[in-house]
Amino acid sequence: MPLSLTEVRALVAQYPSPPVVGTVGSHSALDVADGAVTEGLSSLILAQAGRDATYTRYFRSVRAPDGTRTRGCVDDVWTFSKFADIVSPAAQERLRAAGVVLVPNRALSSYVPLSAIEDDLRVPIVGSRMMLRIEERSERENYYTLLERAGISTPRRIPGPDAIDRLAIVKLPHATRRLERGFFTVASPEAYRAKVERLVARGTIAPDDLATARIEEYVLGPVFNFNYFFSPLVPREEGLELLGVDERRESNLDGLVRLPAAQQLELNDSDRIPEYTVVGHGTLTVRESILEDVFRMGEKFVDAARAQYPPGIIGPFCLQTCIDRNGRPTVFDVAARIGGGTNVHLALGHPYGNALYRTAMSSGRRVALEIRNASEQGRLAEIVT
Ligand code: AMP
Repeated sequence: MPLSLTEVRALVAQYPSPPVVGTVGSHSALDVADGAVTEGLSSLILAQAGRDATYTRYFRSVRAPDGTRTRGCVDDVWTFSKFADIVSPAAQERLRAAGVVLVPNRALSSYVPLSAIEDDLRVPIVGSRMMLRIEERSERENYYTLLERAGISTPRRIPGPDAIDRLAIVKLPHATRRLERGFFTVASPEAYRAKVERLVARGTIAPDDLATARIEEYVLGPVFNFNYFFSPLVPREEGLELLGVDERRESNLDGLVRLPAAQQLELNDSDRIPEYTVVGHGTLTVRESILEDVFRMGEKFVDAARAQYPPGIIGPFCLQTCIDRNGRPTVFDVAARIGGGTNVHLALGHPYGNALYRTAMSSGRRVALEIRNASEQGRLAEIVT
């Protein structure tokens, strides 16, 4: 049974004001920790042993004798032998006793089973607990169905390999590194069969995943990931903010496009097929005449999310788009939580967030500001699920 809103609200009613800001140690955790301490809150990272040095060592808060932070932004780290142990009864009890609210990120929803987050994790989440599942393309109800209902443009779905009549992208997980992508592009049914054979032989994809793969039109245009924020604490018409935009660096796709054509042709056959493993991010702004479209898209998403997954989207979310030659953004992926690229604005703030707040406003800081505002107004219950 999914955790009820009533139960979560009862939990935060017992919480100290302000609560401690906790997040899983990977993905965007530094942005969240940095934002928390900037807003005068305490940060807690839930780390996994063996991949915790970023938090336990390199960004750990150091304080002067009078208590002021002189270095770092990670106030506390709890290290687990595996991330999934966060939902153990003892860990949950400890989180509640410490007054921790969790900011969900992709590490939480990848490493802790979604059913455990939905049904068992009795710790308040600042965000939209029941929307984390829409990222799973294999679910019947996913981000594509929500975007469709919202009237937001998505890449045209191609029903099967035999219907491929233009450049298409085939989306399935990597054969062995299951959290990574085994995406590939093809332009015809024959090319599909040939490429599948090569990618299976190379160990990039597994034949069993092909039946549930999504095939869609490849949108020609640069990637813009729009990092929005929605606040339920203000009137609906003031709720949506655009904070900033990021793009990804994908290995080995980016390695390939940095090579002149002549050198690309010198590559081994198997190196010519790009993989889409995200290894970093860059920052962008969007042409100003496109901005209103971006806001319209965000408003539609907020309304559709409210209708389908009440109370809807809370806090940061990201619509990942390609912008085509007509300047039209098409959404190919959604993060119903903080996006993976927000570290690009860590401490400096996002361009649009800064313009709005007249100070450096990163996604992490905006989350913390929301928690602080809600806490000061006695409205924490309205931003948790
Ligand atoms: P995703 O896993 O959905 O975030 O997608 C990974 C990468 O695949 C993106 O950063 C894009 O470069 C690319 N991509 C995904 N879908 C499309 C599409 N329909 N058209 C063009 N590129 C896409």
